[in-house]
Amino acid sequence: MTDRLQPARGASRLVSDQGADDSVLPFSVEPLDVRGRVVRLGASVDHILARHAYPAPVAQLVGEALALTVLLGSSLKIDGRFQLQARGDGAVDMLVVDFDAPDRLRAFARYDLAKLSGATEGRDLLGSGHLAFTVDQGHDGSRYQGIVALEGQGLQQAADQYFRKSEQIPTRVRLAVAQSVTARGFSWRAGGLMVQFLPSVSEARRLIDLHPGDAPAGLQFDAAAEDDAEDDAWLEAKALAATIEDHELVDPTLSSERLLYRLFHEPGVKVFEPKPVRDACRCSDEGVRAMLRGFSSSERGEMVGDDGMIGVTCEFCSTFRAFDPKDFEA
Ligand SMILES: [Zn+2]
Repeated sequence: MTDRLQPARGASRLVSDQGADDSVLPFSVEPLDVRGRVVRLGASVDHILARHAYPAPVAQLVGEALALTVLLGSSLKIDGRFQLQARGDGAVDMLVVDFDAPDRLRAFARYDLAKLSGATEGRDLLGSGHLAFTVDQGHDGSRYQGIVALEGQGLQQAADQYFRKSEQIPTRVRLAVAQSVTARGFSWRAGGLMVQFLPSVSEARRLIDLHPGDAPAGLQFDAAAEDDAEDDAWLEAKALAATIEDHELVDPTLSSERLLYRLFHEPGVKVFEPKPVRDACRCSDEGVRAMLRGFSSSERGEMVGDDGMIGVTCEFCSTFRAFDPKDFEA
């Protein structure tokens, strides 16, 4: 193979075919004014889904939400937090995914088994409701929430709509989830691609770098032609992103770099450092204790089980903790 691509730093090198499980790879396609990320989830998504033993359609939905959350949350600063929360009237009435920068991922879904068995295959499980993205930039940053209505369109389209309405960054998201056969049975995999059109990035670059490259003479001095060129660039980027197949997003033998090369080798793609993600909850003994302290003595009394202890199971990671109610009465 002589396929080469450009790292953000350093000289061009051969496309890596190294596995990309549980990582997100940022990239840019500068000739098309596009930035994006590819996420591939292996063991992390499998552990999260297996722990909850979700029925397959629910696991599929949670897997999509995990991939989407990493795509949206992984650009946050070191102590930032991103939460995806969906509430609806469908078979899955609540879905929460947390991404704690730089790499921690957790999720849970609440579903109605009776509604689920009545749902036809391929039907949206969330129904009507809303999808909320909450961004917390950490110590020095702000906190904001964006909301988009759920009307049976699914997570992928809802994310595109969210960007169209709230941030006005043209964005396309692709998500895929599948079970692959392994030596130990089946395991879940998820993948996603996000492309965003950010013409200002290259406008700024053009101001600094006036070298015309191989652009047709005069193009950069004609504002109208420039606009058209940018629109064409976004159309091309969207068309290329649309050619990716679901199985490519979840194929464990296809590296993220190889995937990007397949999509964007003609305009040319630049890759940044991949970032790992892992299945890790942020719950702790101290955190649960603090939560219990927030209740009144009589409220805590109602939580005491037959064994005289207050038992708390984390709905994300299923960790069970038992507390002596006397510890809170000092
Ligand atoms: Zn937990």
